[in-house]
Amino acid sequence: MYDMAVPNDKPGVCAKCKGSGVYSWGASVNGKMQHSGPCHSCRGTGKQSRRQIMRNQTYNRHKLNELAGAWLAPRDTEERD
Ligand SMILES: [Zn+2]
Repeated sequence: MYDMAVPNDKPGVCAKCKGSGVYSWGASVNGKMQHSGPCHSCRGTGKQSRRQIMRNQTYNRHKLNELAGAWLAPRDTEERD
């Protein structure tokens, strides 16, 4: 799984963490998410500024390029006899 940034359409409450400043992911175990941490899309502030949105878009572009490169690169097969 890849953690993409979630840029807002416009400055305001962070679209990724819904303003909580905390992003949770993974499976829910006993009602608690396995992983959580400060939301990187808003840097834990719960809000995205115009500048923050631009940063997220740049981050995603970079990330997508990285993924595209990984897919195109030859890799060893995981199959075993
Ligand atoms: Zn956020």
